[in-house]
Amino acid sequence: MIPITTPTLPEIEKLTAKFEEIFASGQLTNGKYVEEFETACAEYVGAKYAVAVSSCTVGLILTHKCMDLIGEVILPSFTFSATAHSLVWNNLTPVFVDCGEATHNIDPDLIEEKITSKTSAILAVDIFGNPCDRVKIEHIAKKHKLSFIVDSAHGLGSLYDGKKIGNWADAHVFSLSPTKVVVAGEGGIIATNNENLASKLKKARNYGDPGDYNCDIVGLNGRMAETNAIIGNESLKMVESNVSKRNKLANRYIGKLSIEGIEFQRIAANSRSTYKDFSMTINESILKVSRDDLIKKLQEKGVNTRPYYDPPIHKMDAYKKYHKEYENKLPVTAKLAKQSLSIPMFSHMTEEQQDFVVDAIKSSIV
Ligand SMILES: *Cc1c(COP(=O)(O)O)cnc(C)c1O
Repeated sequence: MIPITTPTLPEIEKLTAKFEEIFASGQLTNGKYVEEFETACAEYVGAKYAVAVSSCTVGLILTHKCMDLIGEVILPSFTFSATAHSLVWNNLTPVFVDCGEATHNIDPDLIEEKITSKTSAILAVDIFGNPCDRVKIEHIAKKHKLSFIVDSAHGLGSLYDGKKIGNWADAHVFSLSPTKVVVAGEGGIIATNNENLASKLKKARNYGDPGDYNCDIVGLNGRMAETNAIIGNESLKMVESNVSKRNKLANRYIGKLSIEGIEFQRIAANSRSTYKDFSMTINESILKVSRDDLIKKLQEKGVNTRPYYDPPIHKMDAYKKYHKEYENKLPVTAKLAKQSLSIPMFSHMTEEQQDFVVDAIKSSIV
């Protein structure tokens, strides 16, 4: 069975001495390895500050909290649930905007019409690692005095305009869970150039305690453990080589699967995707097989795939109160949700494994 993804972990030998050290010292949290990891992440993405947290979801929740967002926040619906959950946990109202058919990212040209007097921020996403259009979105955010946050759960290792993506926007939140490219076991990194935000986040991840137990923010325990930081640090050292392997595999997929009826997410010429996922769209009327039937056929042939993101957030049961409001309002999101298929992609995938996937797809669509 070829999995949809599996983490490419550092060699255990690189971790054991550090694990032994923290086991001997008992310093399992609030220690030097989280600090080291934060420094390495800030350096890598080119941001002034990086704050490590227990997950990207917690990182997003704390970021919205520390930025004092209120009212409405604009986001795509074609994304993972946690993007919107992070808003709802802060009593913010999600305002869903459709995405671009080629990029799969929020369509910047549809943002302004959704801005009201209640809007406080734009929360964009780098879907599957494809950087969203930071220049256009930042321009809109500045013009309307909105915060701009990127859920870049997939984007640690992506490039936009030839540069690492941590330098645009007010904050980027990256995920380090095992389906992502850089893995800490569980974890998240918030990258920002805003010193005040970084120090508030460090307090907020520690219950909101400034050090004297007289909390001035209602925080969480959102700390990253030392064990996770040790794994994350070694994994970060592999990011460039893993992203480049994924780009090679992605180009190979595109070459071998350029078939009428199959389309691929488009990455801008001056951008680089991490290819956290490799996604394609299945045109049922051309290929004579539906996306869902293809999933079943591939599963029978030993290839595991996922229909990311179906359902999109605005159609999830937890978002029932939005079902009516958005009915038929997000046509591209609806189309992508029905046609998208993520096929196996992991950094140590071999060409033989990839050829097996390609053959399974080709033999399922004729
Ligand atoms: C995985 C993911 C998250 C959540 O990350 P965790 O670290 O698992 O909390 C948030 N947003 C998107 C788009 C994701 O894919």
